[in-house]
Amino acid sequence: MPSHKDKVFEKWWPLAHSLILVRASVIKTAAALEAQFKIWDRMHLRGWMRWSRRTKFGWEQVSSVDSLFRNVDGFTSFGTAYYALPTFGPWTVIWDNSSRCHFHDSLNHCLTQNQNLETLSFYSTDRNSIQLAGTSFTYLWPRPGQDFARERNVYCCNQGKRWHFEQHGEPLAEEDSSLYSLKRKRERMNEESLMWLLDKLDARPWREDYYDFRNAKSFRVTCWSNPRLQPPVDFEQIRVRALGSHLPEQGDEEKAEVEIKGPPSYLVNRCKPATENGPARLIDKSDWCRRTGQESKFFDIHYQGCDRFLLRLPFPPSEMSVNPALVNAICESTGEEFAIFDIRKVIASGFFGDEAVPELQPPVNCPKCGGNVFRASVGFGIHSESDSADDTTWFALAVRCVHCSWGGVIYEHEGK
Ligand SMILES: [Zn+2]
Repeated sequence: MPSHKDKVFEKWWPLAHSLILVRASVIKTAAALEAQFKIWDRMHLRGWMRWSRRTKFGWEQVSSVDSLFRNVDGFTSFGTAYYALPTFGPWTVIWDNSSRCHFHDSLNHCLTQNQNLETLSFYSTDRNSIQLAGTSFTYLWPRPGQDFARERNVYCCNQGKRWHFEQHGEPLAEEDSSLYSLKRKRERMNEESLMWLLDKLDARPWREDYYDFRNAKSFRVTCWSNPRLQPPVDFEQIRVRALGSHLPEQGDEEKAEVEIKGPPSYLVNRCKPATENGPARLIDKSDWCRRTGQESKFFDIHYQGCDRFLLRLPFPPSEMSVNPALVNAICESTGEEFAIFDIRKVIASGFFGDEAVPELQPPVNCPKCGGNVFRASVGFGIHSESDSADDTTWFALAVRCVHCSWGGVIYEHEGK
């Protein structure tokens, strides 16, 4: 039994792994919820529906977390029952019966933007669930004007075969940012570290004794929904769905990380990891990395002790010919020629496996001195679902002339 959550939350897993916390009393939160759902009713309901399908509000005596989950009539894709639950802390917890087990992600924004409340919404599960394993939170503070909120967001989730980590906004004083530089992404934030952070913010949503059911009632919002479009499912069905997916074994995952960070198979033994002062830095600063936002990998071309090369680029594509993209390097000393980019080896490309032999231009000349010997670095984008080093996306080639030191990115390809 994990120590960061009480048994009842494990019993009803995955029902509470995503919640909205509102930094206000349950009375104030209830008023804000009512106001917000009335805004939505006015936007969405026309004519007679305004009466028959309007959202209903009421106070209810919830006696425990267990009874809350036990008494739900059913779960629908978009929640139809929202509960504002009183606590002993400065926060009110909002839980809803969505079968996706993910908080209503415009509700937190609207409570901040329209109702002027601080909200902290999170999703956290260390196991694959209805969605894949991962932890993320979004803290919103209201502020006047166009730019209605200040936001802090940290995201650390599995996206299939790999983990992805991202953060936006100023870190909270309570955060332990040192975790974010851990090598294994999945360890940067998880259930335990999120609960540790929430605890520092006086929020303990996975502790039964945090809820003040004895002294205060809970507020329920009930939305109309069409049972034909949103047939309700029961808890057992949710549980089966949540248990249906499995995380890859840890060893496999680490192996995949190393493998995809290595060079594509056709560059093995023909390159070294990029050095800081080599031409790779010209790519690192180019738009490519920023534009795509993908992870990337860089190498200096280096072959049998040689780091000076002539370079041959493909002819630009024309309407007349389909010429698969290929870039070759020729060793200055030995004259040996080999590929440093080959679209036919890129798994996701339309040219994958193509046997046509591409035509290449004569070696490139330096635009400044006319020389043709360069030091060369290559950069590749890494596909987010990738599990092979050959599954690259964009490609860029940067060079530095060995005669005059001119440097630049001389070839780019989007990798398709
Ligand atoms: Zn030059």
